[in-house]
Amino acid sequence: MEYVTTWFYDVLSFFGLYYKDAKVLFLGLDGAGKTTLLKVLKNGKVDKMAEPTTHAGKEELVYGSLKIEAHDLGGHAGVRRGWKEFFFDVDGVIFIVDSVDRDRFPEAKAALDGLLGSERLASVPFLVLGNKIDVPSSAGDAELRAGIGLMETTGTDPEATKSTGVRPIELFLVSITKKTNIKPAFDWLSAYLKRQVPGASH
Ligand code: GDP
Ligand code: MG
Repeated sequence: MEYVTTWFYDVLSFFGLYYKDAKVLFLGLDGAGKTTLLKVLKNGKVDKMAEPTTHAGKEELVYGSLKIEAHDLGGHAGVRRGWKEFFFDVDGVIFIVDSVDRDRFPEAKAALDGLLGSERLASVPFLVLGNKIDVPSSAGDAELRAGIGLMETTGTDPEATKSTGVRPIELFLVSITKKTNIKPAFDWLSAYLKRQVPGASH
């Protein structure tokens, strides 16, 4: 699909232009869709053979100066000590939730709470993706927000929230496999990343 490839290269060239060694993390429970999103970005299409990740660990995609790292999180204890080593020098976090798997909303909430409470990520923009909305039984906006404890978010207008000093965080309901609503979500993140770069207008 040309469309997907186009927006992705727009995002990548954006990072490449304004950043040295930009680092974006894809985080979420296993099964949320991190590997699938990496594949979409890497190939510009969905690999129909994609299987859920069965091993905890790190996946990486490097494009120019942009590095994307995907990590499986999990466990009710929230963000464990060992994960914090990944949190150095992070420019943005994309936290993905399976909006169909209601049983694991509490686990996803614990992981998200842990991340939001991490000092090293204190000023990092968070793009939260409620994934798999192509499934009819998926949770809607209100149910998902309640499930993961994300009632108040930044909103989609960077100008309106510029001076609040609050960490940018917003929820988008998406389908990674159907590519629904992915572009607005990345546009949102890009807008906040852009504003954080000193001297970006030079
Ligand atoms: P990860 O553990 O976070 O890396 O999750 P994966 O990317 O391996 O995805 C887990 C499963 O969810 C796989 O079977 C994917 O095909 C499926 N999946 C990912 N995104 C979507 C989506 O948007 N809709 C649906 N229906 N399934 C998806
Ligand atoms: Mg995976």
